[in-house]
Amino acid sequence: MSTSIDKDILSGIEAHLESAYPNEACGFLLGTQVQKKRDITHLIKVDNQSSENQRRRFVIDPLDYLKAERFATKEGLTLLGIYHSHPDHPAIPSVHDLEFAQPFFSYFIHTISEGKMTDTRSYRLLDGKFIEEKFTSNQYPLPSHNSQLTPHD
Ligand code: ZN
Repeated sequence: MSTSIDKDILSGIEAHLESAYPNEACGFLLGTQVQKKRDITHLIKVDNQSSENQRRRFVIDPLDYLKAERFATKEGLTLLGIYHSHPDHPAIPSVHDLEFAQPFFSYFIHTISEGKMTDTRSYRLLDGKFIEEKFTSNQYPLPSHNSQLTPHD
C-alpha cells in the first residue's frame, strides 16, 4: 500500500487545524484508490460535534458521514480517511481514537503546537491496532516530528 497526499490538501488541513486551535478539529479525506495506490486529493472540513471537551475530543455527526459519502459518489471519489488535530499533544492515536477507528481509513493526526502545525503522521487499523503508515506528498519539507510533548490520554 502506498499513500500520497496532495500538497494543497496538506496546506488546507494546516489552515483549518491552526484556525481551530486550541480546540481539536477534524475532517474527511477523499481521493482515489487504484489497487494498492491511494491518492488523497480532496478534503471536507467537519464541525467538531463534541460537547464534552473540544480540546481533547472530536466527534463527527453521522449526517456529516452521509454528506461526505454522497459528495464522494457524486465526484467519483472514495472516502479514504479522517484527519484531526492534537492540540499541544503528539501525533499519536489516543484510546478514544482507537475506539472509533474503522478499517480501510487512513487516520492523519496532526500536532498543533502553540497554534502551528509541527507534526503529521498517518495510521491504519490492522488487527484492532493502529500501525503508522508511511505517506508521501509533493510538499517538502513536511512538518518535523516533535517528541517533546507528553502523550494524549
Ligand atoms: Zn486523536
